[in-house]
Amino acid sequence: MMKLLRRLRGEMSCGEVLEVLQAHLDGEVDAETARKVAQHLDKCQLCDHEASVYTRIKSGLASKRRVLDPMILDQLDQFADRLVADGAPPAESD
Ligand SMILES: [Zn+2]
Repeated sequence: MMKLLRRLRGEMSCGEVLEVLQAHLDGEVDAETARKVAQHLDKCQLCDHEASVYTRIKSGLASKRRVLDPMILDQLDQFADRLVADGAPPAESD
């Protein structure tokens, strides 16, 4: 019944949105579908979350790890600082 109501009002279900979400974010759907998906994302937190996760993954891939590297270096820095603060571990000997 809900499905039928949604269909009559031209709204998409979560399943339908998730099916076309990637294409939508890549700008590969027609204007009418884009409008319906945007309308759904406006109201549905679940699909909106999916969309933001996909966007983040996509931009992460697009930047080719340039975003990740400083983060890893920062963590290594913090790790080194912690080692110094806790007292350096004994040097390894064979
Ligand atoms: Zn949804």
